[in-house]
This record gives sequence, structure tokens and C-alpha cells, in this order.
Amino acid sequence: MDTMRAYRMIEWGRAPEFQEVPVPTPGPGQVVVKMAGAGLCGSDLHVMHAPPGFWPQDPPFTLGHENAGTVSAVGSGVLDLSEGDGVLVSGVGFCGSCDRCVAGLQNECRHLVMAGYGIGRDGGLAEYILVDAHHAVPIGDLDPRLAAPLADAGATSYHAVREQLPRLRPGSTAAVIGVGGLGAYAVQYLEKLTAARVVALDTVDHRLADARRLGAEETVLSGADAAEQVRDVMGGPVDVVFDFVGATPTLRTAIDIIGVGGRVVVAGIGGGEVPMGWEKLPMNGHFINSTGFTPAEYREIAAMAAAGDLELRSTEFAFDDVEKGFAALREGTVEGRALVVF
Ligand SMILES: [Zn+2]
Ligand SMILES: [Zn+2]
Repeated sequence: MDTMRAYRMIEWGRAPEFQEVPVPTPGPGQVVVKMAGAGLCGSDLHVMHAPPGFWPQDPPFTLGHENAGTVSAVGSGVLDLSEGDGVLVSGVGFCGSCDRCVAGLQNECRHLVMAGYGIGRDGGLAEYILVDAHHAVPIGDLDPRLAAPLADAGATSYHAVREQLPRLRPGSTAAVIGVGGLGAYAVQYLEKLTAARVVALDTVDHRLADARRLGAEETVLSGADAAEQVRDVMGGPVDVVFDFVGATPTLRTAIDIIGVGGRVVVAGIGGGEVPMGWEKLPMNGHFINSTGFTPAEYREIAAMAAAGDLELRSTEFAFDDVEKGFAALREGTVEGRALVVF
């Protein structure tokens, strides 16, 4: 049996390690994807340190939930994919057949597995990954190595923004808190798809400079007076806040800068907590947990990237150096997305 290297969680609370495992073969309705790029994500760090029971499926499993590559083997009954197709692999484990899935709301699947590949099922930090065909979304001519960050960072931020497009009319305002791996994409989507005036918040100066280059009209260096500064530069409260950090101070800032009918969209798993209740939000305020994305959204962002409308910035690491990649992620020294290339 052919084997391959895989970077795996062996048990909860124990550092992951390289193991030699069998190369997968596709069953009916499945494909095998030869990995081209795997993004490293803050949630991987969460998985590495998670207590037993936090995530639904126990180790062992291969890490890596931001995956793209080329179809290398096709199982029986797969109609829409052929060997050689470039694909993004869904980081959301939807069933594909429940009422929500058939309505195109795969991120709200009745049987949603958070997340699936790389968190429960074997992920993409390996030479090959076995996936259900409905989780492999074709990306046309887009280079799968460059496209990998779209599978999670680019798609999570796209879903968050796309859901709010009806609110982001000309004359509206938006704030993006945390303009690193996810937020830098959100700024681009807001720039390309809306007429909203955008303020970016971060604790790192050079990320704010990037956000400005990518389309943010205003920037605020996050600190104790962030909310006041945002209200100053925006001339009042903002209509929609996207929090890609999700820590207690950023959640607090987010709530503090919306006005009547404002929306706080949280897509960062920062473990923060804020008191919640009717009187804690402005009238008609919304507090939204934004999780996941859909295959249709994968196709839309792949099309944007193929047209040259998205900057796909990453810091590349060889597969052997995956631990260096995670270290850089922990230290915050990564430019764009930390990306393992094969
Ligand atoms: Zn992730
Ligand atoms: Zn479903």
C-alpha cells in the first residue's frame, strides 16, 4: 500500500506530529485531491489546545481545513469532477441533502459538522486528501496553490460581508475589526461590492496600511478609546461592524460603535464574552454569529480571483516546515495568510 506523510492530531492536548499514513482511494461519490496549498488558521491553534469534548469528533485526524489542490482520482458516481480539475475543498462539513443544503444554505446544514476536514475528518496537511465530491468545488484556471486561502479565510469573510450587502447601500458605513488573514479580504469585498465607507481597526500599524491600500477610507489603531476614535472619524455610529477577532475588547468596541438598527457580525473565534440582553444593544440592533460559507460563494470568490479582483497574499512554508508556519502564526509575523505549499 502506498503511504504519504500527514501532520496529525493524535490526542487532545498533545502537540500534533508527522505520521506515515496510507494514500486514500476514493469510494463511490468521493474524490482524492492532490494537495497544492493548505492555509494555516487560528482555529488550528485552537484545535491543538482544545480540551476533550470541545470539538465534536475525536483524534486521530490530519489537520488542515483550508485546502486546495487538483483532483487525482475520481470515485464511481461522480459526475461533475474529472482528474486534473483544480478545486477548493469545503472547510464546512455539510450533508448536501437536507432542506437547508438544497436551498443553498449549506453553512446552516441540519447536520453541520464544524468543521469537517482537518477538524474531525482527515484534512489537507498531507500529500492527498479524500473528500466527498460535493465538498470539492471547481475553480477553473485559478492556480490552486494560490487559491487555498479562499477555502477558509477568503470564504468566511466573504459570507459575512455578502449576507450584509442589502444593508451596505451608498451612504452607509462599515467597520472591520482585525484586518489580518480574514479581515483583509473583508475590506476588499466591501471595496469591490459596496459603496459603504469603511473603517479598519487593528493593533498592528502595517496591517492598517494594507487595509488602506485595499480600500479602507479610515483606519484606527485599536486601543482603549477605539470606539470613540471610530465615531470621530466616521462622524457617528457605523451601520455594520465585522469582528474578525472576537475577543472581549473587540466585541465591546463593536457593540459600542453601532447605532440604532446596527449590526455586529462576529466571525472571529476569540473566546470573548460580553453581557447580552435587550438593553445591551441599540434599538433594533443585531448580534450575529457568522459561521462558514457555501459552495456558491466559493465559485463567486474564485471568479473574482480569476478576474484579478482579489489580492491573495500569503507567506509560504514548505510542508516539512509546517511547525515554523504555526509558530509564525502564533507570533503574528505572517504577511497575509500562512500557507503550506506542496
Ligand atoms: Zn479556519
Ligand atoms: Zn445539509
